[in-house]
Amino acid sequence: MKCDICNETIEDLDDVMTYYGKNLCEDCYIGELHRPKPCDPMAVSSAKKNREMMGQSGTDGLTSLQKKIVEHLKQHGKATQPDIAEALNVPIGEVQTQFGVLRHMEIAKGTKVDGKVYMTLF
Ligand SMILES: [Zn+2]
Repeated sequence: MKCDICNETIEDLDDVMTYYGKNLCEDCYIGELHRPKPCDPMAVSSAKKNREMMGQSGTDGLTSLQKKIVEHLKQHGKATQPDIAEALNVPIGEVQTQFGVLRHMEIAKGTKVDGKVYMTLF
C-alpha cells in the first residue's frame, strides 16, 4: 500500500489511514487533519447531502443559535461576527463555530467589505 500524498510505501496495513477516500500514511493523515479547509468541497457536499437525506431545507435541522444567526442576517443583510456575538449575547467563539457549520451547509458565507469580514446569507 502506498500513501496517496507522499507516495511512501506503508509496510504495515494497520498504519494506513483513510481520509476522504484517500489512503494515507500516519504523517500525511495528521497533516491533512490539521490543514485548514474553509472551502472543502467534500465537507460541503456531505453536509448538504446529509440535510437532503433528512429532507431538510432552509433552516430545518439548525440549532436555535444557528437559526438566530440566520434571522439576524436576514434582518441586517450582513453582519460581522463580533456584531452577531453582541446582538445575540453569545461568545464570539460560539459565533465562529456556528458560522463554520452554516458555511458548510451553504447557508451563510463570509464577504470582505472595506477590510472587514461580514457574514451574509447565500
Ligand atoms: Zn504520506
